[in-house]
Amino acid sequence: MTQPLFYRIAASEPAAHIFELELQIANPDPSGQELWMPNWIPGSYMIRDFSRNIITLAAYDGNGQALVVAKLDKARWRCAPTTGPLIIRYQVYAWDLSVRAAHLDQTHAYFNGSSVFLAVTGQEQQPHRLDIVPPGGDTAGWEVATSLGRHGAGEWGFGTYEAGSYDELIDHPVEIGAFSRARFVACGVPHDIVITGRHRADLDRLCRDLTRICEAAIRFFGEPAPFGRYVFLVMAVGTGYGGLEHRASTSLLCAREDLPLASEPAASPGERYKGFLGLCSHEYFHSWNVKRIKPRVFIPYDLRAETHTPLLWAFEGITSYYDDLLLVRAGLISSAAYLELLAQQITRHLRSGGRFLQSVADSSFDAWTKYYKQDENAPNAVVSYYIKGALVALCLDLTLRQRSQDRVSLDQVMQVLWRDFGQTGRGVGDDDIQAVAEALLGDSLESFFRQALHGTDELPLVELLRERGLDILIRPAESAADNGGKAVPVDPARPRAVLGARIQPSEGGAQLAHVYKGGAARAAGLSAGDVVIAIDGLKVNAVTAEKLVSSYPVGSTIAVHAFRRDELMQFLITLAAAPADTCVLTLPQEAKALNRAERWMFGRSN
Ligand code: ZN
Repeated sequence: MTQPLFYRIAASEPAAHIFELELQIANPDPSGQELWMPNWIPGSYMIRDFSRNIITLAAYDGNGQALVVAKLDKARWRCAPTTGPLIIRYQVYAWDLSVRAAHLDQTHAYFNGSSVFLAVTGQEQQPHRLDIVPPGGDTAGWEVATSLGRHGAGEWGFGTYEAGSYDELIDHPVEIGAFSRARFVACGVPHDIVITGRHRADLDRLCRDLTRICEAAIRFFGEPAPFGRYVFLVMAVGTGYGGLEHRASTSLLCAREDLPLASEPAASPGERYKGFLGLCSHEYFHSWNVKRIKPRVFIPYDLRAETHTPLLWAFEGITSYYDDLLLVRAGLISSAAYLELLAQQITRHLRSGGRFLQSVADSSFDAWTKYYKQDENAPNAVVSYYIKGALVALCLDLTLRQRSQDRVSLDQVMQVLWRDFGQTGRGVGDDDIQAVAEALLGDSLESFFRQALHGTDELPLVELLRERGLDILIRPAESAADNGGKAVPVDPARPRAVLGARIQPSEGGAQLAHVYKGGAARAAGLSAGDVVIAIDGLKVNAVTAEKLVSSYPVGSTIAVHAFRRDELMQFLITLAAAPADTCVLTLPQEAKALNRAERWMFGRSN
């Protein structure tokens, strides 16, 4: 008979950030039950060794007698044989304020199951029950927010929750505290938004805008939605940004300034709120693309070791392509505002020298050790599978439309992937997306996929966007704060001199965070980490350095003084012109070209 596994979690010492857990196994392995902890959390491709936060762990038999527990490796244990039940008691330290782990103090508790729940080897497919115990102390008004199924617990209540398997148990993060919450309905499905942390957000506005995003996404893949309820768990802080997707919820970390105030103009979202809506749209799109349409190697997940796939460009990149596109399709931002976001994304790509060295398939494959472990040389060596992946998605969409006279688009590719893979549970193989696109088009896309995914030549962005009717301009940045997207007058006769480095504030000077390949600083021998204190004999800091440099003509050779390992060094630098790496996109005036551009943007087909 199938006996559920019983977990109990209590925020026993909130001030010390300690969760107390108990796990009861009715039918342990008679030869000695093995237990394990995940080393990574799906959606965040880095080994995090969650077991390092287990402080104590002890096992007992049904009579309360302690059993010997042997450690097998960093995240595996074996208990001495017992006929059962077997009871495990352990403590987990939780002080990681991110969407990937667990966090506990006197104000709230948050956890991902992968950070707190031991898995029971051989019983991962059994039903799992979870008792969430109210913490002691003054916690009046505290509630529980999670998309886990309830098994006796009241709505928003402490008590028992359930999951059909370990995989399901750890895919529903839990927030506990005195949060604010609001509900809206999208395509008949209840959605909740829960906000922790001090904020003054306009919940009505959030609900109105999120309804449109969620409806646009559900209709994109086709009703019904793949969940019966969905929860946005938001942690509002001073500064922070992050999101992690789950099958029926998402955890988001944002700055409270990103949330809309009641005073925010109703017409169009401001810069920061637009970014937050894009993040919500991104994580929500993942409910289909990566939570259900999955790389074959993720079925099932092996959470003990890195799982390499060349396909993250599709799961993160295509999701990044549609996150902003759905904002314009949902009517939340204008076409011009969308093109500004797209131009900024193209700008970020053009500023990454790593695109000439690493293909997007390789970037996906090596996400564990490169994209997720970026160092000062990353801009020169690594290409982002988010950004390039999104631009590959754009190029694929435009190529399909161009070659089929708008009969076929990426929208249909995604819908077929949903029907044939997401809904059937079949994993996506390395060549399946190309095969789906080719079947829809009725023609080969071999050279497109080979070059876009495995090559390092420039993507055909300019040609494809022009062909779609858009005006595209690639110009030099007008200042270090210029992220692209905006038409600003730049005088080509007076090129701006730059260092070829990214500067960050540092005590006593301007520290070089990145030194770009092909730039003046690199040619002069300056290195990331150097603290520049004077340029041409004048004291500088992070604010004044760039301004001073831009006041010299391109080609000037000047002295730079910098500290490296506390030693003063002098460099002679020949200033170079700011490279053309900043994109601006504009809608065409002419009606036929405008119609062509809008057919793509609004997802219309013939
Ligand atoms: Zn993502």
